[in-house]
Amino acid sequence: MLKIPLVDLAAQYAAIRPEIDSAIQRVVGRSAFIGGEEVEQFEREFAAYCDAAAAVGVGNGTDAIYLVLRALGIGERDEVVTVSHTFIATCEAISLTGARPVFVDIRDDTLLLDASKLNAAITPRTKAIIAVHLYGQPCDMDAIVDVAKSHGIPVIEDAAQAHGARWRGRRVGSLATAAAFSFYPGKNLGAYGDAGAVVSTNREIVDRVRLIANHGRREKYVHEAIGVNSRLDALQAAILRTKLPHLDDWNAARRRHADQYLRLLADSGLELPGVASRAEPVWHLFVIRTTQRDRLQREVKSHGIDVGVHYPLAIHQQPAYKYLDIPAGSLPQSERAAATVLSLPLYPELTDQQLTHVVEVVRAVVDAGVPR
Ligand SMILES: *Cc1c(COP(=O)(O)O)cnc(C)c1O
Repeated sequence: MLKIPLVDLAAQYAAIRPEIDSAIQRVVGRSAFIGGEEVEQFEREFAAYCDAAAAVGVGNGTDAIYLVLRALGIGERDEVVTVSHTFIATCEAISLTGARPVFVDIRDDTLLLDASKLNAAITPRTKAIIAVHLYGQPCDMDAIVDVAKSHGIPVIEDAAQAHGARWRGRRVGSLATAAAFSFYPGKNLGAYGDAGAVVSTNREIVDRVRLIANHGRREKYVHEAIGVNSRLDALQAAILRTKLPHLDDWNAARRRHADQYLRLLADSGLELPGVASRAEPVWHLFVIRTTQRDRLQREVKSHGIDVGVHYPLAIHQQPAYKYLDIPAGSLPQSERAAATVLSLPLYPELTDQQLTHVVEVVRAVVDAGVPR
């Protein structure tokens, strides 16, 4: 049986092993583990990659979102508008500040924030909007930023799944007030541990995040604010610097695989991901939809092909967010997505043979379930 994982980190390491090993040696040899040259260089290189003014490395993507909210002064009694169809971290970061998440439903085609519903979610307490570029697809940033501007509130990009994606030719990370990235190992740009970054076209926001992320200090033992310890370490920075020059090639390979899936599954009866005409996605995940999701997942897995569900519950359906008391049925597209989404294997090193095999198995399982 041909086994195919959902992501294959070993294949990527095998392709760049000498570069990675020498980067690790460089850091260990210098014994500079927190901050220092590797971190500063990575911050400059990643900001440039995103067409942004500045970047600051932080401990992980969840902290990146939290730190932007803190830098914008958001806290108790505030509301932050976002989507319920996302990874829990988007909302955890809001909750950690003491603010309350408020949800807008998603579009049926792209599964991203539905900007036409945004205005209705904004109240006098709304202090920010978090646009989540889920699955590597950029949100409709023109529409979102328009609504935000009309209320004078900032927009934060949750770009944890979208390193390198573009909206109308512009990179995510430079499309709004500030952006949060995760370098969790399985992301399009992944470290060898936890890591994250905040990027912005506004240097002051980046400086403020840097201060809060480093115990609220500018000087060694003078603390201006109550901060946290959430820094990017030099080993991760050196690994990320080694990988960054490969990112566009890796994203291009993901795009080729996604185009193949779209072509080979076009008449399969499955709902395929929609892409906005102004979007250039980077395909962190390739997510199909079907009402037979649970059966498909079980049977495709039994053939040695790993498929995933991102995510089986919308945030308002999670036990941790029961307290928000959002009635079932009030975010219908988000709830439908949670019940029907299925992610197929997609990573740069996926071979044509593997992809064709996935398609054959998926089609066979779908066909077997259709009564004739
Ligand atoms: C991965 C992810 C995060 C959090 O990043 P971590 O580095 O795991 O903390 C936030 N938002 C989204 C959409 C993610 O996929």
